[in-house]
Amino acid sequence: MLKIQTLSSGSAGNITYIGSSSTHILVDAGLPLSMILKLMNQAHIDPHSINAIVITHEHSDHLKGVADFVTHYNIPIYCHQQSVKILKRSLKLPPHYFIETESTFEIGDITVNSFTVPHDSQFCLGYTFQQDNATVGIATDIGQMTDTILSNLAACQIVVLESNHDIQKLTANPKYPDWLKRRILGNRGHLSNIDCGRAIAKLYQANVSQVILAHLSEKNNTPTLAYQTVKQYLQTQNIIEGKDIFIDVALQSQIGNCYCIE
Ligand SMILES: [Zn+2]
Ligand SMILES: [Zn+2]
Repeated sequence: MLKIQTLSSGSAGNITYIGSSSTHILVDAGLPLSMILKLMNQAHIDPHSINAIVITHEHSDHLKGVADFVTHYNIPIYCHQQSVKILKRSLKLPPHYFIETESTFEIGDITVNSFTVPHDSQFCLGYTFQQDNATVGIATDIGQMTDTILSNLAACQIVVLESNHDIQKLTANPKYPDWLKRRILGNRGHLSNIDCGRAIAKLYQANVSQVILAHLSEKNNTPTLAYQTVKQYLQTQNIIEGKDIFIDVALQSQIGNCYCIE
């Protein structure tokens, strides 16, 4: 059995909960500790039950509350050997908080698998989590979709996937300087709604039945726009949202729906 629930998702802070009946994991903790605890309380997740944090990358919208959370609850951070040096420097924590891993490792009864995604950080990972026949995956902060990402996510029933911005809205945003637009649109930036839709059409051909659109920009996207863009693209591929595949949208600093695979 696996549960997955976004506690907050967006450019201002990301936290996702993954749990089996006996193992409880956070992916990232990108809000202040007090806010994380408030969201966990709303989701009826006991922070004392969390066994570990895994981290996607070192940007502050994924890291903000990590040091406070792991010191307060005395739990480890599992991180790939290539990312451990950077995380030690960013988080300023004693070495015993870090457990170096290979690409695949176990936390309790959950098998965790990490894979590289293209983004303008020193490292950036997506993850899948597997327990018996249940597999869920997370991939956000993706400059461009890759075969590696698609093949890892294809094994999942439920996927949290970045749908960061609407290209027209971003391009026309007068508050964003050109260098920032180029960064976001670049192939180490963030995934647009339409590219997210294209990826979902491919994932539909695999095992995926539920996608949660995530890491939406507050300035260059809206939940309705992300959902409609993806839904309409899928329609052009004869894939009907709500019948062939289900699409949900994760929100900034609000808990999302909790999904459970038996
Ligand atoms: Zn990032
Ligand atoms: Zn981010």
